[in-house]
Amino acid sequence: MTDESKRLLYLEAMEIDVWLPKTNHGAPITEHALEKDKPLLSSPSSEAEIWQELREEVANCQACDLYKTRTQTVFGTGNTHADWLLIGEAPGQNEDLQGEPFVGKAGQLLNEMLRAINLSREQVFIANILKCRPPNNRDPKPEEVSACSDFLQRQIDLLKPKIILAVGRIAAQQLLKTTEPIGKLRGKVYFLDAIPVIVIYHPAYLLRSLLEKRKAWQDLQLALKTYREI
Ligand code: SF4
Repeated sequence: MTDESKRLLYLEAMEIDVWLPKTNHGAPITEHALEKDKPLLSSPSSEAEIWQELREEVANCQACDLYKTRTQTVFGTGNTHADWLLIGEAPGQNEDLQGEPFVGKAGQLLNEMLRAINLSREQVFIANILKCRPPNNRDPKPEEVSACSDFLQRQIDLLKPKIILAVGRIAAQQLLKTTEPIGKLRGKVYFLDAIPVIVIYHPAYLLRSLLEKRKAWQDLQLALKTYREI
């Protein structure tokens, strides 16, 4: 099956209408999303150096016990000038092996969810609460989140995103510092240091629970609406 066929199948499964790309007089999201492509006012080299230093710091981190079992750290990936920041929970097995967040089937579905709102993976930045994989994909421990939180905060400070998507229950609960279930957290706009935060279902969950596909689409629509109104 071709990538395009898989993409259409995913979208069909989620009952998502495909938005055709528009280059002229087109979708506001595209215009908005590309805003960050404008030249930087600050020196690109110095900013790139700061990102590289942070990346190396993460790669060498031993601040919690997860360094002992990781294959490699998963720093995050994407456009360092993105308006959209997606934050997941922690690397899984594939991510730990490949060094990139949201790979495999869940990653493919996430890509399709982004494409459904006219965004590509290259236009957003994707990071996790934890940079190292918890063994057997168990939930992160509070001390691990605490040890790793500075890295995520520095990524947010550098990126200055216009909107954050908290992907999945754990990410949402950690970012919003709550124990509320995701069903109660979704559908609302929160703020983290004045940046709007929208909670969306984790694509791995959606792969198992396609009954939630409508809600997933609603969450994306809320994110899009919020972004447009910023
Ligand atoms: S999870 Fe975070 S704090 Fe723990 S070792 Fe990895 S990078 Fe360091």
